[in-house]
Amino acid sequence: MKIAVLPGDGIGPEVTREAVRVIEALGLPDIEMKEAPVGGAAYKAYGHPLPPETLEIASLSDGILFGAVGDPDCDSLERHLRPEQAILGLRKALTLFANLRPAKVFAGLESHSALRPEVAGAIDMVIVRELNGDVYFGEKGFRTAANGDREGYDVMSYSESEVRRIAHVAFRTAMGRARRLCSVDKANVLETSQLWRDVVIEVAKEYPEVALEHMYVDNAAMQLVRAPGKFDVVLTGNLFGDILSDQASMCVGSIGLLASASLGERQTAHGTFGLYEPIHGSAPDIAGQGLANPMATILSAAMLLRHSLGLASQADRVEAAVAKTLADGVLGRDLGGTAGTTEIGDAVLARL
Ligand code: ATP
Ligand code: MG
Repeated sequence: MKIAVLPGDGIGPEVTREAVRVIEALGLPDIEMKEAPVGGAAYKAYGHPLPPETLEIASLSDGILFGAVGDPDCDSLERHLRPEQAILGLRKALTLFANLRPAKVFAGLESHSALRPEVAGAIDMVIVRELNGDVYFGEKGFRTAANGDREGYDVMSYSESEVRRIAHVAFRTAMGRARRLCSVDKANVLETSQLWRDVVIEVAKEYPEVALEHMYVDNAAMQLVRAPGKFDVVLTGNLFGDILSDQASMCVGSIGLLASASLGERQTAHGTFGLYEPIHGSAPDIAGQGLANPMATILSAAMLLRHSLGLASQADRVEAAVAKTLADGVLGRDLGGTAGTTEIGDAVLARL
């Protein structure tokens, strides 16, 4: 089984190194990790943020472990050469249409949430956001109305097949969890949402064990703050998911703990092909100082083991080691602690 390791810029290489050590420590036979440059680092070495060799290594792998891209030195480059284009290019080239963001409050960290500790403590959900469709990709432009008024417009659209494939990802995710799925839309006013709801109801017939409910997005935003513990898997489109997944992240509290997966349709020998990355960026302000919390990347590696390599029990082991490390009070500076990058990596390894 092949893992492509793309460390990227800023703290990317530091946090990725710790996640690689964790994977190595599992002592799995038959795992081959191959590193490739991406982002500003790739631009500086090869003149492009996503060199063809990197894309090839990524596409020939079973799963991609991605650090972060973003480099202040590249701010004045033309848009297509900027580091951030690398992640957009990978998502597009590899048709990674399903973004999964788990949001969970680890025991002992309830007070870091923006919510009351007793409310925060109950959070354990995954948001499944569609990434390749919706209003971001519809026809857009400016026009002049009959009365001379200037107008901007963005067409929101979804096709049945786009909704169907993301719905399957969400139902499969729910099957591996508490088997509750909440599909979020705005079907009272949007045709895209009516289609979304119809297709989700149809796909649900293939997953009779999953309890399905539908919620309007405005209500979902409210419930995420009022009673987030009620959610297990939340399925939603690109625009609503963009907003709700950031909202859910902050309900958890720390940027250094949040992992994500972007999945495609391609099946690997033991799961689904995907790209895994922490939700934080390259953090140029602390890069190179050994201060970054690598846990978000280590938890992303656990998602890779689970979703792309079919190694659920190994993923559980890694997640339990991270939880134990936190419970033992080994906290990075993002959580008000003093532990550095390698120290946190060592602490997780010791508990593995
Ligand atoms: P980008 O544009 O690459 O997303 P950003 O500036 O928007 O960068 P981050 O890079 O995520 O956002 O950084 C936001 C803040 O959080 C910074 O102050 C950074 O130092 C801090 N931060 C981000 N990741 C971590 C981490 N893993 N550990 C500790 N602090 C972090
Ligand atoms: Mg950012």
